[in-house]
Amino acid sequence: MSAYEWIDHTYDVVVVGAGGSGLRAALGAAQAGLKTACISKVFPTRSHTVAAQGGISASLGNMGEDDWRWHMYDTVKGADWLGDQDCIEYLCREAPAAVYELEHWGAPFSRTEDGKIYQRAFGGMTCNFGEGPVQRTCAAADRTGHAILHTLYGQSLRHAAEFFIEYLVLDLIMDDDGACIGVTAWKLDDGTLHRFRAQKTILATGGYGRAYFSATSAHTCTGDGNAMVLRAGLPLQDMEFVQFHPTGIYGSGCLITEGARGEGGYLTNSEGERFMERYAPNAKDLASRDVVSRSMTMEIRNGRGVGENGDHIHLHLDHLDPDILAERLPGISESARIFAGVDVTRQAIPVIPTVHYNMGGIPTNYHGEVLTKVGNNPDQVVPGLMAVGEAACVSVHGANRLGSNSLIDLVVFGRAAGRRCGETVQPGAAQRELDSRAGEAALLRLDGMRRADGNVRTAQLRLEMQRIMQENCAVFRTQEILDEGVRRIAKVYENSSDIRINDRSMVWNTDLVEALEYENLIAQAAVTVNSAAARTESRGAHAREDHPERDDRTWMKHTLAWLAADGSVKLDDRPVHDYTLSDDIAYIEPKARVY
Ligand SMILES: Cc1cc2nc3c(=O)[nH]c(=O)nc-3n(C[C@H](O)[C@H](O)[C@H](O)COP(=O)(O)OP(=O)(O)OC[C@H]3O[C@@H](n4cnc5c(N)ncnc54)[C@H](O)[C@@H]3O)c2cc1C
Repeated sequence: MSAYEWIDHTYDVVVVGAGGSGLRAALGAAQAGLKTACISKVFPTRSHTVAAQGGISASLGNMGEDDWRWHMYDTVKGADWLGDQDCIEYLCREAPAAVYELEHWGAPFSRTEDGKIYQRAFGGMTCNFGEGPVQRTCAAADRTGHAILHTLYGQSLRHAAEFFIEYLVLDLIMDDDGACIGVTAWKLDDGTLHRFRAQKTILATGGYGRAYFSATSAHTCTGDGNAMVLRAGLPLQDMEFVQFHPTGIYGSGCLITEGARGEGGYLTNSEGERFMERYAPNAKDLASRDVVSRSMTMEIRNGRGVGENGDHIHLHLDHLDPDILAERLPGISESARIFAGVDVTRQAIPVIPTVHYNMGGIPTNYHGEVLTKVGNNPDQVVPGLMAVGEAACVSVHGANRLGSNSLIDLVVFGRAAGRRCGETVQPGAAQRELDSRAGEAALLRLDGMRRADGNVRTAQLRLEMQRIMQENCAVFRTQEILDEGVRRIAKVYENSSDIRINDRSMVWNTDLVEALEYENLIAQAAVTVNSAAARTESRGAHAREDHPERDDRTWMKHTLAWLAADGSVKLDDRPVHDYTLSDDIAYIEPKARVY
């Protein structure tokens, strides 16, 4: 152990993650005059945000009348009333300003004839509190995330945020009073070890889609920040809510944006029927994602799937004008060609519901401050720790996120977190010296894993975990299937101590990186399946065949889950906020959710 030495750094603010949310937060903190570091395990513009296709929601009203209150109504309903309405009000109200800011920074949005930002229809986005569809999703063709991420990276460099690229953050450094005072990291290309001390640490580490076998997310989406929070003895919230996107390409999992249906695409079964008309008579193919994914699964189960094995569905764009396809959906036309061998102007794309987004994550308030439950106080702020983006659960997406509401979440709450740092952090204020043992646990974990000489390879355990999550915690759930999932995941968790690492080096040891990422994933798999087994109702993405109704009386609450070192999960809950931020809109009362 003494062979290692820490290289210490001191910042006002340290942001972990350089996706849309991390960059926006880093930019905001730097703008506020704070010495800011942004740490990323991949080059910033390779973060998963770069893959976002369809767009970013904001009630600009460029394509017809719109109102942030309508956006709020849709988000509350999309969330199946599990979202916190004060936070949703903040999101929808601030959305237009956050998009104009991106525009002024140079994000190359598609344009209308008269030069305004182009907006397309997306699932669950309506006018007049649920009446007809509205075009609210601002788009840069079908490469919106790419446009936004590159814009934000350029701007953060301009505002002198300092980047630490290809550093893998290992763990939070917590002091004896339960405050976060920084993070430990391993620099992948030279094997050095680093401690970053900070007045505020902001986790912006993204989702954990890779806990599942078939996911649209990048291989780097392993939810590292969520796992750090669990290891720090803090809870994650609403982890049972995992979004399946209706249209992942069959076989590869590669995403076909909802924008494809927003531009007029539709789904058919083996009889050529546009079956969504039966399940969602009004919104049809543009119903909320959970609704469309369930309908597709039902068609397949009832023997109306397409293909040799009758196990997928067709998405049609072949009736659309090829010029529109080339202009608005060039990226997915290419993906369909490469990953399905399909020419979208002539053939249907084979698609299947695929894991896409994690509604659950690190509980925060709308300033981005991390919360935990202590005694009877469900909203205790953890000093020094913040979270934004897909890693966070604010909660604005509740039980189901609407398409295009994540990109706006990244910039609205990234901006809010930067602002909060500006209000609460004094530039350059003295910070206590880290004592020599700070970060030791992370070091022991890293070193232990590096020397692991058991009998199983990481890839094997990861595959087992991914298969179990796909089989036991998917679109439709029952007590029996979930309980079995709990047992199976516990077994894999146990076997993790038997990992074998072949490469003992500290430099570019991808074997070791994958093992650490797997360790993070299995922790989240455990809290996800345990949270799902406990919730005996159906709400949003959590569809229980044995409890088909939403049960507001018992379950109108957020799940909190803690993980012990032995893999056991403790559950508790916190109330859903039943109030708004201002008098401009009243609390939207729960009602049946039909599209
Ligand atoms: C294919 C696809 C298409 C999508 N399309 C849309 C869309 O059109 N509209 C929409 O609203 N949403 C969309 N989403 C969802 C949305 O893109 C994501 O939720 C969002 O981009 C997540 O951003 P983030 O900032 O939270 O994290 P990410 O962009 O995932 O970035 C995570 C960052 O954390 C860093 N990191 C993680 N762990 C560590 C560690 N241990 N040490 C150091 N750094 C670490 C990574 O390097 C990375 O920089 C899409 C998602 C996918 C997968």
